[in-house]
Amino acid sequence: MLRLFVLPSLVVVSAIGQTMPPEPERQLAREIYTELVEIKSGYTTGATTPVAEAVAARLKAAGFSASDIFVGGAIPAKANLVARYHGSGRRRPILLLAHTDVVEARREDWSMDPFQFIERDGYFYGRGTGDDKAQAAVWVANLIRYKREGFKPDRDIIVALTADEEGGGPYNGVQWLLKNRRDLIDAEFALNEGGWGEMAGGKKISNDIQVSEKYVVNFRLEVRNKGGHSSLPVADNAIYHLASALDRLSKFGFPLKTNPVTRAYLDAMFKIETGPVKDDLRAAAGGSTEAMQRVAQASPAWNATLRTTCVATQIEGGHARNALPQLAAANVNCRVLPEDSVEYVESTLHRVIADDQVNLAIAGEVSNGPASPMREDVLRAVSRLTGTLWPGVPTVPIMVMGATDGLYLRAAGIPTYGVQGFFMDRDDIRFHGRDERMAVTSFFEGQTFLYELVKALSKTGD
Ligand SMILES: [Zn+2]
Repeated sequence: MLRLFVLPSLVVVSAIGQTMPPEPERQLAREIYTELVEIKSGYTTGATTPVAEAVAARLKAAGFSASDIFVGGAIPAKANLVARYHGSGRRRPILLLAHTDVVEARREDWSMDPFQFIERDGYFYGRGTGDDKAQAAVWVANLIRYKREGFKPDRDIIVALTADEEGGGPYNGVQWLLKNRRDLIDAEFALNEGGWGEMAGGKKISNDIQVSEKYVVNFRLEVRNKGGHSSLPVADNAIYHLASALDRLSKFGFPLKTNPVTRAYLDAMFKIETGPVKDDLRAAAGGSTEAMQRVAQASPAWNATLRTTCVATQIEGGHARNALPQLAAANVNCRVLPEDSVEYVESTLHRVIADDQVNLAIAGEVSNGPASPMREDVLRAVSRLTGTLWPGVPTVPIMVMGATDGLYLRAAGIPTYGVQGFFMDRDDIRFHGRDERMAVTSFFEGQTFLYELVKALSKTGD
C-alpha cells in the first residue's frame, strides 16, 4: 500500500524540469516509432492491419492479456487496434486515439525513402513521423511503461490506433468502432491529434490544445438553360447567372462572432502577440465587432476563426465554343463554425445568391459535431504540465479548420481534445508533404508530456 502512495509523488518530482524520458523508455518508443513508420500504410495503397498486428504483438510480449487487445475493422486490410489497461473503474475510461494510415508518399517526390525511418541532423524523417505515427508510438510505449511501473489509474486507459483518417471513407476506423464495437472505445473523453506545440525561430511559443473543429459542407450551384446558337445571344444565360451569383458570394462575409473556444484562443493570442493588432485581439475576445473586423483582416487564419466561410473552388459549364451554355455549375466549399447549422448556411447562401435560376444543393456527406466542452480538468492538467516542462509557454485552446477523427467522436458524445506536446516550427509543417519529419527532441519531449498528462488525468486524489 505504501508504494501506491509514494510512487505518484516521486514521479512528479522527477518530472520537474525533466523533459527527456529515461533512456530505456526512449529506446522503446523509438523502436516502436521506427517499426510503425516503416510499415507502408498509405491511405489508398497500403494496409493498416500490419500496424495493428505489430502493436498487438508488442503488447502481448509486454504482458497484456489477449482479451484486452482487439484487432479488427471494416475489411481485412484495414484493421484497427484497441488495447485496454485496467484501472480501478472509479471513473469512466479515457481514450487515447491515433490513426495508423498515412498520406501517400512516392520515392521520387522525396529526397530519401519515405518508408525508411532515418535520423539526420536532429530530425526523424519518414512518412507519418508527424502525422500521426509519433503519437501512435508514444501511446503504445507509455502504455507498456505504465504496466511495467505498476501504475494504478482510477479509470481504464484505452489506446485505439485506427484506420483511414486521411480521406475518411468506408473503412474509417473510428466510425467503424463507434458503429460496431462502441463498448471497446466508449470513454468519458478522448485525447487525439489536432493540437501540437508551436515554435517560431527555434523558440517555443505555445502548446496548442484542439477543442473543436469546423465542419465541411460542399454546395453545388447549378444553372440549367435551354441554350441556343451563340450568334443569337439572349440575356438569360447560364454562365452569367452563375457568375453573378458567385460575384455576390465573393462580396459576402458571414457574421463575425466568437464562441468559448475562440474567445480563449484570442485571449491567449493577445498575450503572445506584439504587433499592431495586439489590443484588437483582446477587444475581439471581449465581443467588439469592430475589433473582430480588424483581426479578421489581419490574417486569413483569424478570419476563418471568427466566421463560417464559403468559397468557390471549382466551376464547369458550356458545351461548345459557338453554343449558348445549357449548364453552368460551381462547387462552393464551406467551413462551418460548430455552432452554425447546415440549414442556416444553406438559407444564407440562398439569400446571398438571390436568383431562383441558380439551384443550390448539398454535395456529398456532411458530418458535423459539437465543440468539446472546455473541460476544466483537461485544460488545467495541460496548462500545469506545459508550465512545468516548458516554463513560460502558454497553453492555447484552438479550433482547427480541417477535420480529424475527433469530429466523429464528438458527434457520438465523446468530447475529444487534440493535444500532443510535440513542438514544431510553425512555418515548416510537413504533414502530407515531402520529407516529413519530427525533431528528435520534440518527439521525446512529447513522450514525456503525454506520459505525465495521461497519468495526471487518471490518478485518484485530485
Ligand atoms: Zn493526422
